[in-house]
Amino acid sequence: MLFADQLGPHFSDDADGEILLIESRSVFRRRTVHRQKAHLLLSALRHRAAELGDRARLVRASTYSDALTQVGTPPADISVVDPTSYAARRWVRERGMAVVPARGFSLGERDFQDWLGTRRPILEDFYRWQRSRLGVLMEPDGAPVSGRWNFDADNRLPPPKGAATLGLVRPAYPVEDDIDAGVRRDLDRWAADGDVAFLGVDGPRLFACTRDEALAALTDFVAHRLPSFGPYEDAVLRGDWAMAHSLLSVPLNLGLLDPLEVVDTAVAAYHRGEAPLQSVEGLVRQVLGWREWAWQLYWSSGEDYVHRNALSARTALPQWFADLDSDAVEAACLRDTLAGVRDRGWAHHIERLMVLGNWALQRGYDPAQTAAWFRDAFVDGYDWVMVTNVVGMALYADGGQMATKPYAAGGAYLNRMSNHCKGCRYTPSVRVGEQGCPFTAGYWAFLDRNEEKLRGNHRLAQPYAGLSRLADRDAVVAQESARGSAAP
Ligand SMILES: Cc1cc2nc3c(=O)[nH]c(=O)nc-3n(C[C@H](O)[C@H](O)[C@H](O)COP(=O)(O)OP(=O)(O)OC[C@H]3O[C@@H](n4cnc5c(N)ncnc54)[C@H](O)[C@@H]3O)c2cc1C
Ligand code: SF4
Repeated sequence: MLFADQLGPHFSDDADGEILLIESRSVFRRRTVHRQKAHLLLSALRHRAAELGDRARLVRASTYSDALTQVGTPPADISVVDPTSYAARRWVRERGMAVVPARGFSLGERDFQDWLGTRRPILEDFYRWQRSRLGVLMEPDGAPVSGRWNFDADNRLPPPKGAATLGLVRPAYPVEDDIDAGVRRDLDRWAADGDVAFLGVDGPRLFACTRDEALAALTDFVAHRLPSFGPYEDAVLRGDWAMAHSLLSVPLNLGLLDPLEVVDTAVAAYHRGEAPLQSVEGLVRQVLGWREWAWQLYWSSGEDYVHRNALSARTALPQWFADLDSDAVEAACLRDTLAGVRDRGWAHHIERLMVLGNWALQRGYDPAQTAAWFRDAFVDGYDWVMVTNVVGMALYADGGQMATKPYAAGGAYLNRMSNHCKGCRYTPSVRVGEQGCPFTAGYWAFLDRNEEKLRGNHRLAQPYAGLSRLADRDAVVAQESARGSAAP
């Protein structure tokens, strides 16, 4: 049996056995997911079933358990690759299925635990170990290629001055087919029947959901965007939604690409002289470092981690945010990012971390609710990727286990790294009044609210010194408290 995120060739190895694929509508009844995410999941499943031909048995049922009853095969005779969430792992074990170790990541969970031992989990240490043990961008003597592990300092360029886009070739999108048309008809019908409700809007499918499309997307990225990936990793341009990003998280998380083949393809481009080291190292760091780190920490941190709440953030997600109602928002950076998620179910890393995550952190949105929202609103969202990125990194809800300080930033950062502020009704350097930038004011109000918990963090010594010198501190705090959960 294959789950809907186990669809690449490396998940099915018994050449002759029947492969069970389950399409369950209850997933969409239980949660309000982005329309384009629902489309991708169903389209990927149906395409895989079509590719497998007679070997596939695609069962449509209300729930996974109903599907098993329909099939009639004793669960003990069904083998499954260990799934990607706690709930799914419990489900396969409770039924006594034969479970083989997880795939789609470069490292087994036990091997990670052996490496971790009793050390403090630090991404940089893990990343270097990954590079060394896999021999990626390494010299024969064990040194990193060019003598440097890290090009982060070179990879923080703001967008080119005055540019509306990075000027790169537009990403090559998949061509929709009859399977997509069928998925669209079904989703329209379910929504019209009132059976399910979706977030966001429908639109042409932008992300790969078959193995062939995934390979084409990888080739397209390496040929056209990888060379600029490193330098502009952190930059934001409102007219360029994809920037130089790979757009590979969807096929990677559907299990259509193996992370090592992504890395090997990028490294080969470096050796051919077609992509600079700073870009290729940047990508390797994301895929073999961050992605694998997120996966491993999901399991090693335990199921309760998502309920951590070190900053006692208890604000419920306001409806305008949860519903992606960008029209309710005047703050240009937040408005345009929410509109991007509404239209595509996707935003790039800095938009997720420094616009949406930063906003949720500043406003004290409940971490578990925020993580669930990211999982459902994003086409590449899964439980396993939320713990590190949302609860640990964006919201600092683990009290500093994953990030040494909260990723809170005011308008000055967004003004430096994006072109949003020029068209905004607010001014990034102004804190109070009509022009007061809600990110700048929100940043100071966040520090003020959490002073007791954060003042001892030596990485925040400077911001707290700044806060104590702020002449209009009381006015800023009063203004932001009056704003409450209103859209900025
Ligand atoms: C608040 C927040 C929420 C996020 N939610 C998700 C999510 O739901 N699903 C998801 O896959 N990623 C998530 N990320 C990580 C990252 O933002 C996305 O993987 C990336 O933006 C996807 O676009 P891309 O494929 O073009 O990535 P690129 O920028 O081209 O990066 C290449 C690949 O590296 C991997 N990667 C990079 N950074 C991370 C990371 N921090 N964690 C895990 N993998 C990473 C992804 O597989 C990605 O495809 C989140 C990050 C933050 C801060
Ligand atoms: S001025 Fe503030 S709200 Fe407006 S775009 Fe800049 S950072 Fe965002």
